[in-house]
Amino acid sequence: MNNNILYTFVAEDAIKDTEMFTLNCNCGGKVIIMSPFQETEVTCPECESLIKILIVSGDPGYIIGADENGEPKLLPVQGSKAKPIELLSESEKNKILSNVKNQIKKD
Ligand SMILES: [Zn+2]
Repeated sequence: MNNNILYTFVAEDAIKDTEMFTLNCNCGGKVIIMSPFQETEVTCPECESLIKILIVSGDPGYIIGADENGEPKLLPVQGSKAKPIELLSESEKNKILSNVKNQIKKD
């Protein structure tokens, strides 16, 4: 039995005009969720992790989280049209993170 709990972000834009959406688990497993997307948590059929779904409005591209050292880190948004994080170069990632840091300073 696996008691892992994962959190995943899904772009609202990706699900608003569709009947089903394939959610990817960290393990590579896939979970199909169906319209009207009322489930807020699903279980991965592969690794049995509980996946909590957080729908973010529009398509923000990425979510900024923090790593274990408190450093800002990019997190993927499923269904986003933005370039996947693993395809971003270090300088592209740093640019996005520094934009976010500037926005935080302004607030
Ligand atoms: Zn899984």
